Amino acid sequence: MNRPCLLALVVASAFFAADVQAHPIGSEPDEHSPAGYDFSVRPPTAVLLRGSQLRADAVLFAQAPRPVVSVGAKSAPAIATPFQAFGPKVKTRWDERFLYIESDGLPAHNMMVGITAWQQQVPLPQPYTGNNAWRIPLQPRVAAQPISARNNLFRGAIALAVNGVPIFNALNNRGEDAFKIGELDEWGGHCGRADDYHYHAAPLHLQETAGKGRPIAFALDGFPLYGLTEPDGTPVAKLDEFNGHFDKNGGYHYHGTKTYPYVNGGLRGEVTVRDGQVDPQPRAEPMREAGQPLRGARITGFASPQAGSWSLTYQLGTETRRIHYALKGDGSVRFEFLDGRGQSRTETYSPRPRGGDKKGPPPRPGKPKN
Ligand SMILES: [Zn+2]
Ligand SMILES: [Zn+2]
Repeated sequence: MNRPCLLALVVASAFFAADVQAHPIGSEPDEHSPAGYDFSVRPPTAVLLRGSQLRADAVLFAQAPRPVVSVGAKSAPAIATPFQAFGPKVKTRWDERFLYIESDGLPAHNMMVGITAWQQQVPLPQPYTGNNAWRIPLQPRVAAQPISARNNLFRGAIALAVNGVPIFNALNNRGEDAFKIGELDEWGGHCGRADDYHYHAAPLHLQETAGKGRPIAFALDGFPLYGLTEPDGTPVAKLDEFNGHFDKNGGYHYHGTKTYPYVNGGLRGEVTVRDGQVDPQPRAEPMREAGQPLRGARITGFASPQAGSWSLTYQLGTETRRIHYALKGDGSVRFEFLDGRGQSRTETYSPRPRGGDKKGPPPRPGKPKN
């Protein structure tokens, strides 16, 4: 595919902190010093999937003031540490079996830019909180029958990045390499049918914030996923077909790579898989009907002028179109669609009621109000 090159335009520090959540979670006193995440830090371009530099809109992402909340007590399991580097936006709690991770599923970086195969979804905060939080087993066990992501696990997440963003199979649900066919942004992510942002590749850029030698994600079987070096900084040793290997102490871990399978190429550890996905796992909540592929569209800009409001720009032929959208106080989202001739149309969607019977039919996404 002939991908128009986004040449070195001005690179603005376009980061944001989406602290606005449809379902706020409680705040507790902090036992830790504030997390050291500087949203103005750009990851080195070497870890971006595409070699091009990001073209960022002139609007800078706003950094919202953040409440001080607990990220865990002193007895936190060791695997909580890399997630805590992304607190308080990402929160952790645990019991004897699992680490639970709460997030709104939105990263602290630009999204969507570079996508050329787009289904008109946009990133919206997701309610990965309470009993819809992510969970990672604290005592992973090697499975008698590991599951390959080449022919299974096409639905749902297979791992969770330490910034609280889910990671899906590198192959999309038609078995295609999502990155190679233009479905992913520079960070290896895009949005699903519920406007849920997720990666299909390893978020290698998280290494810097997570800390040297620390995992950048955990597979849902509990085994950690490291970046482009071993935890001790040495080059990555030979990997198996799942992008993993055993260390000298007999522990298993995965690595992110810049080629297929990019992330864990399956699950070496014990999990329950139902209908092609790890079960249970949190659900994204669609607010509107899923979009259709928009042939020829190329996403060129994304910005968050302030917390809880976003703007996505795309090119369709010679026409530049924009979508402005914002969360309102009642949890609804108002979209404004602007075409290249200055025509605009608005739609507002409300969140669906939560906590329905798991076995019942999923409630239908709301229709636009106007
Ligand atoms: Zn996807
Ligand atoms: Zn390794």
